[in-house]
Parts: sequence; C-alpha cells; structure tokens
Amino acid sequence: MKLNSFKKLFVATLLTLPISTVSAFEADFAIAIHGGAGTINKAKMTPEKRAGYEKKLTEAVNAGYRLLEQGKSSQAAIIAAIQVLEDSPLFNAGRGAVYTFEGTHELDASIMDGRTLNAGAVSGVKNVKSPIALAEQVMENSVHVMLSGDGAETFAEKQGLELVENSYFNTEARYKSLLRAKKKLAVKEKELKDFQAAHETLENEYKYGTVGAVALDKNGNISAGTSTGGMTAKRYGRIGDAPIIGAGTYANNNSCAVSATGHGEYFIRYHVAADICARMEYQGISLEEASSKVVNEVLVKAGGSGGIIAIDAKGNISMPFNSTGMYRAYRKAGQQAHAAIFRNE
Ligand code: ASP
Repeated sequence: MKLNSFKKLFVATLLTLPISTVSAFEADFAIAIHGGAGTINKAKMTPEKRAGYEKKLTEAVNAGYRLLEQGKSSQAAIIAAIQVLEDSPLFNAGRGAVYTFEGTHELDASIMDGRTLNAGAVSGVKNVKSPIALAEQVMENSVHVMLSGDGAETFAEKQGLELVENSYFNTEARYKSLLRAKKKLAVKEKELKDFQAAHETLENEYKYGTVGAVALDKNGNISAGTSTGGMTAKRYGRIGDAPIIGAGTYANNNSCAVSATGHGEYFIRYHVAADICARMEYQGISLEEASSKVVNEVLVKAGGSGGIIAIDAKGNISMPFNSTGMYRAYRKAGQQAHAAIFRNE
C-alpha cells in the first residue's frame, strides 16, 4: 500500500473509533473526564439537551487541557475540570447534587497523586462549595487522608475555602427526582418491609451522575479525582465509593489513574479503581484490557452497573461502562476535545 493511502486509512480509522476505545494512541499529555454513568434515556435526549451536556463536558475538558498545555500539573488540571462540572447544575456534584432522604445535600470527593501516592478525601460535607478543592486541601495540608462531616467543614474554613448554605446546591430537577424516588420507596418499603431493600430496587436514574477527571501532565505524572452528591434519597449518613481511595479514585504512575461512577456499593466491595491499576501492574496487561475486564466482566457478573475513566503514564485513555450511557470527554495533546454520551460515539 502506498504511504499516502496508508495515511488516509489511518486517519479514517482514527475518525471512526468509538470514544470508549481510544487507547492505541499515546500522548505527551492528556485529560479525560466523566459526568456520571447510568440509565440515560436516549429517547428523552433531545438535540438541545445533548448539546448542553456536550458543551459543558467540552468546557470542562478544555479547562484542564489548557493547564496541561501550559505545563501545569495533572493535579491542577483535574481540579480545574472537576470544578467546571461541580459548578454546573447538570451533574450530580456541587450545584446540582442529588438530595438525601431528608431533603439536604451531603457531598463526597477524593483526589490522588500518582507520583507520590498522596491522597485526600472528604465525605458527608454540607457547606463546602467545591468538595474537590477540600479533598485537595486534605491531601496537601493535613496529615490525614479522609475527613468527614463537621470536622471536614471546620478544616475547610481553616483552609480559607468558600462555604455556602446547603441550599446553594438545590436544583428543581433533583428535587423532583427526590419526590419521585420517595414515592417509589414508600410503596416498595411497604411491600418489602425494609428501607435498604426498597432502595436497592430504585432504578439507576436515581443513583448516578458523579463527576471525575484523570490526567497526564508533561512531566509524566498522572492524577485522578472524583466528586459527587452520592445517591438520591440516601439515608443514615450513607457514603459511596467516590471518596474511598481504591474504590472510586486511584492513581499510581506505575500503572494508571482511575475515576469511577456507578453503583457505589459494588465499586467499594470490588475496590474497582485500585483493582484496574493492580491488574495492569501485576499482570502486565494494557490499560484497556484491565479496565474492560473489571467493568465489563467482574462488575457485570456481580450486578454492579457503572463505568470508569482511566489514563496511564503514556497517555492511553480507556472509558468503559456497562450502563446505557456515560457522560464523558477526553482531549489529547494536539487534538480536539471529544465529548460523548452513548456507546460507540
Ligand atoms: N458512585 C456514586 C455513589 O455511589 C454515584 C455516582 O457515580 O453517580 O455515590
């Protein structure tokens, strides 16, 4: 085959590749983000709605990309990207977070640095505008890895982070979703005589929407971060996988950086993020193989729905999900941003 036609074929293949399998093309620096996996109804996804999601995902991925381009750290890039999503009412993190059973918001977040294996996490915070910024403060300026509840809020204040009323996180759409979920729960609880069992039966639309980012910087360092409001109608101080290092977030320069979204209880029990990295390191398999094995085999077999985004130190990206969709985007050095929602996009 002549070089020119080979080039054409190569470019054509590139253009038709689905976004969940972008791993064959390495990059000097790169970033990937997600805005949650779950039962995203294709029929209800109007062109306007889709455009709104894609615009915000692109804005977020570009915010991180710009910093990477300037030579800033992967940590700075993922924080910038996640904060764009936290500030958007479209996603279940920061403004737009889901409601607890009691009608408030309790937020979880975590971050991990793949070079040092430093990590920071917060759970059940109610008044911190940017939970991912607080997770970063815990990592950088405390001797601990995870802070929760009131103590975490006091620490946030000491670190000079912006505090807001809990109502700042309110949105009408999430409130309506809480009312619908409570109605369904009441019926199911009567039938099953158990709140937890009733909660298990809630459809995925009430469970997901977390945001996260992973990035590789020009110095070859990778980081991961995740931020969420958790699950609609959660109760009794429920904490999901997002703030659990190894479950919802993990990063190690020797293998990969992962941020997860999905049914948190499964991601905790199968320590999904750390398992993907460990498989790469111990089995010597690729990022794509390791992440697909965990998401499409281990989790599917267990009944845990959701997805992950992951990057390795060469700039390979993998974004598998076993739910109907996952809001996601990525951008590699010198390329344009790609945003997608459903499979094979
Ligand atoms: N994983 C999150 C949780 O269980 C939910 C999500 O991904 O949206 O709290």
